[in-house]
Amino acid sequence: MERGCLTLREILKKHNFRYKKKWGQNFIFEQNLLQRIVTEAGIVPGDCVVEIGAGVGTLTRELLAQGAQVLAIEIDRTLLPLLASLFAEENVVFVQGDVMQLDLDELTRAQGWSGYKVVANLPYYITTPLVMKLLEEEAEIEDIVVMMQKEVAARLMAVPGTKEYGALTLAVQYYAEPEILFPVSRHVFQPVPQVDSAVIRLKPRKEPPVQVEDKALLFRIIKAAFGQRRKVLLNSLLKTHPGVEKKTLGEVLVQAGIDSRIRGEVLSLEQFAILSNIWVAKIKQMI
Ligand code: SAM
Repeated sequence: MERGCLTLREILKKHNFRYKKKWGQNFIFEQNLLQRIVTEAGIVPGDCVVEIGAGVGTLTRELLAQGAQVLAIEIDRTLLPLLASLFAEENVVFVQGDVMQLDLDELTRAQGWSGYKVVANLPYYITTPLVMKLLEEEAEIEDIVVMMQKEVAARLMAVPGTKEYGALTLAVQYYAEPEILFPVSRHVFQPVPQVDSAVIRLKPRKEPPVQVEDKALLFRIIKAAFGQRRKVLLNSLLKTHPGVEKKTLGEVLVQAGIDSRIRGEVLSLEQFAILSNIWVAKIKQMI
């Protein structure tokens, strides 16, 4: 990508830029790939897009080329003057900060936006907490298309009984419909990371796929089931809920139609939901 006479790589060199591993700085300069991300994200002119981790603005550039308005967040202060010098467009705002500490709804409302898409090549070290933050806050996000480590993407798509299946799978599938869009080789990044990647869509659900009386209890049960993967479900639940009698818990499982000797990792989200609802009903009976 040329900027005047200098390529972006040369500009980085001129600014004595050092890639910071701690912030997951693996940049992409391949325009075809960046365009493919924007195309798969279905960006159309006028879309409001939050980009997490602008880097040197290569993805930002393609989002703008597609006619989006972009709010791009970047933690690395040294990149902000560089970004300011590279982008004269009015449709882009760069915000310096740690995305984990920012309120995206507040930031986007300040731009006059109502609703927005998230498109990003994520910093891998915060992928899981960041995805959970985006989904759990039930923000005004219409769509999420992000690049992440291939193995993490596989965990989001996993089915019961597989080694990839876990609490993260269920939490993500509760809030969103995940879909792997395409794989990405590690060799397109600069510097080359140790892992391959995938671009994934997480379409936030309007309604959760299961109805539960107590969402916090559902996720406590799920956490318990996967925290003790080798234990059978009854024992995992007893360990994490010491106040509950074994007999009561056994009855809850029977009523839910779940064999107490199985491991939690084979249960579907629907089964966890039934279990948590029966648990709530049992507690109510006991009060
Ligand atoms: N978008 C660029 C690209 O595709 O080449 C850069 C992607 S790079 C994988 C991730 C970017 O996220 C880096 O520029 C890094 O500095 C930034 N970053 C890391 N942690 C962050 C955080 N907590 N909040 C905001 N940005 C962060």
